[in-house]
Amino acid sequence: MSNTLNFVNNEFNGKEIKRMHIMAKPIGAVCNIDCNYCYYLSKQGLLDYKKGCSPEINDETLEHYIKSYISSQNASQIIFSWQGGEPTLLGVSFFEKVVALQAKYRPSNVEILNDLQTNGTLIDEKWCQFLKANNFLVGLSIDGPQMLHDSYRTNKSGRGTFNRVMQTVDLFHQHQVQFTTLTCVNNLTSRNPLQVYRFLRDEVRSPIMQFIPIVEKKDFRECAPDSANSDSFIPKQGDKALIPGNSRSIVEPWCVSDIAWGNFLIAIFDEWYQKDIGRVHVQYFEAILQAWSGGQNPMCTLGPVCGKGMAMEPNGDIYTCDHYVYPEYKTGNILEDDLATLAFGSQQALFGLDKINQLPEKCQQCDYQFACFGECPKNRFIKTATGEAGLNYLCAGWHKFFSHADKDLSQILRTLKQPVANGKYIHA
Ligand code: SF4
Ligand code: SF4
Repeated sequence: MSNTLNFVNNEFNGKEIKRMHIMAKPIGAVCNIDCNYCYYLSKQGLLDYKKGCSPEINDETLEHYIKSYISSQNASQIIFSWQGGEPTLLGVSFFEKVVALQAKYRPSNVEILNDLQTNGTLIDEKWCQFLKANNFLVGLSIDGPQMLHDSYRTNKSGRGTFNRVMQTVDLFHQHQVQFTTLTCVNNLTSRNPLQVYRFLRDEVRSPIMQFIPIVEKKDFRECAPDSANSDSFIPKQGDKALIPGNSRSIVEPWCVSDIAWGNFLIAIFDEWYQKDIGRVHVQYFEAILQAWSGGQNPMCTLGPVCGKGMAMEPNGDIYTCDHYVYPEYKTGNILEDDLATLAFGSQQALFGLDKINQLPEKCQQCDYQFACFGECPKNRFIKTATGEAGLNYLCAGWHKFFSHADKDLSQILRTLKQPVANGKYIHA
């Protein structure tokens, strides 16, 4: 396997293509709302910001970032991703500065695209005009109907944000802003899969549905996912200590359980398969189909290697992944280090290759390894029934879903006249 994580393929401008991806956090972890399960709010105390220093990226760092992010890549398209905290707190004027700098440094034959993740509570007409005019793709966080959304997505005074977010949905449709929805699958939403799915389909009219399983160990504020010492208690698959809400649980009570995750995907998959294929887009299902047809799953969590998406804090510090913003995973700083070296160098490459190199035996023997690859390493904190560490917390749910959907996924590919290269139904 290449030591450059397969960033290199074919040619552009007569040289090998080089791509990287960074989630830039121009206002760090600062957010105007206070979602209970946010893994990122706690980072303000963890990161090494200078006392009294503004959490906003300054003009020098921003310009350096845009310039070096463009010059470190060789591709016909370069994608900037803006996340937080809540990046819209910086106002439209900040992003006007961003697009002006991108225009300044863009080579004439390169297209620059932007995506922006938002909680949707600050979006107004002016924002929509800007987003539409500059072709931004917006990821909107919305967890389902009001009762489910407002259970955790609350403002600083504890009030739900649902009504304000639905105003943003209307504005996006009116202004034809390109958007996707990002829905957190927690202990509550996971128990109501069809309510969530039908709401996103019929009321939000979500162009692309993204679901993210909420999995957080109780020590996630202080400890990187794999920093457990040898004395730490590591439960085996099926142990009560892995049930969210159990008094002995090692995960936060708002997490989705492994089986609830599988059941959530199954319920939505069945409805999608029976009624909505081709007209409703669910990121997971479309990505997983690629794995069944013999391609590589485009989602980092389900592919063989990861590490392609780094994270950048407002002071220019770079981390191996958005889920690994912990001091031990800082690889450098864009003002002090060469960005291409950080992105394509050995530390980042090894981080990515660990995903496949550290697969436990159970995953290596698994019928669905091709579709899962042990899922995200941040969730690999349990033991197999035989006592091997490094199994994914969600394993039982993933396996249940893959077994359930296997036949139908093969059937979809056959209907589309595409090859069925994986799964138990290769031969019809
Ligand atoms: S650690 Fe998880 S989220 Fe990060 S790149 Fe790897 S698979 Fe993706
Ligand atoms: S389903 Fe479970 S055993 Fe199979 S690859 Fe995924 S995590 Fe490993």
